[in-house]
Amino acid sequence: RHEGREHRYALFNPDMHARALADMELERDLRHALKQQELMLYYQPIVRLADGAITGFEALVRWRHPQHGMVPPNRFIPLAEDTLLILDISRFVLREAGRQALAWSRCFERAPIVNVNLSGRQFISSEVATETSQLIAEVGCPPALINIEITESAILTNKALALAGMEGLHAQGFKLSMDDFGTGYSSLSYLHEFPFDSIKIDQSFVSRLTREPRTAAIVTAILRLAETLEKRVIAEGIETPDQLAALQRLGCAGGQGYLFSPPVEASAAEALYKQPSWI
Ligand code: C2E
Ligand code: CA
Ligand code: CA
Ligand code: CA
Repeated sequence: RHEGREHRYALFNPDMHARALADMELERDLRHALKQQELMLYYQPIVRLADGAITGFEALVRWRHPQHGMVPPNRFIPLAEDTLLILDISRFVLREAGRQALAWSRCFERAPIVNVNLSGRQFISSEVATETSQLIAEVGCPPALINIEITESAILTNKALALAGMEGLHAQGFKLSMDDFGTGYSSLSYLHEFPFDSIKIDQSFVSRLTREPRTAAIVTAILRLAETLEKRVIAEGIETPDQLAALQRLGCAGGQGYLFSPPVEASAAEALYKQPSWI
């Protein structure tokens, strides 16, 4: 491979130029999207693996772009994080998820918990806990109905601020999950230092679980550790009955994935909650 050459010409790579232009256009469109209400939430069921019941939903943001169709979050969240637009997006997500969680708590005896993803960028401000509770209070939702998912990278930037933010959220009554567990660094020490209620095993482990004995050993170790620390474990990206059976055998409490359902609109999520298609 011509590593050196690639590097030297990288500055003048027309693809990079095109990409930069596309990013600028995307940023402009994203500002517009926030105003025009082109963003919406999809909900993916989180299932209790012992009996298949839905215990909650993960809210995942979707952007319906008038020209480009559905823009996946992996395309615009990183850009939003670089431009602080993420703060506006999170405000939208929290309000919308809070409204939905409240509505569901009124129509179901056992209210589903709604999981919301917050970006690490938000934990560089000491205001994250007060701002989040304020938004949720504005829509009348009790914090106990909301579970906030945070990746380890949220902690890496500024550990003291991240800890303060998470302890604030926890004190307000929010539940907290460590997202994408196993993909970052020093996960083990963060697990007991931070007030996480649960951890989400990244889908990369789940996809290798039934193919690699080594991965099965790692997942077993994670589950044992979580049990000792009294954290609930949710496995992400369950796609096959084999993966489900393996996780059930290992005693993993919860899971989500295409085997049950992809993320769907609120009305479809509600129908699944009443009658899961897999039971
Ligand atoms: P994540 O938080 O790890 O979310 C899980 C992703 O895995 C979702 O992708 C979901 O649709 C996908 N997924 C679920 N089940 C399966 C499965 O069985 N197989 C496979 N291959 N994938 C599955 P999505 O919705 O495209 O979101 C991608 C990422 O974008 C999320 O990863 C999260 O990091 C970010 N994101 C999404 N919504 C938000 C949001 O509201 N705020 C922030 N800050 N980030 C968000
Ligand atoms: Ca997540
Ligand atoms: Ca995840
Ligand atoms: Ca992820």
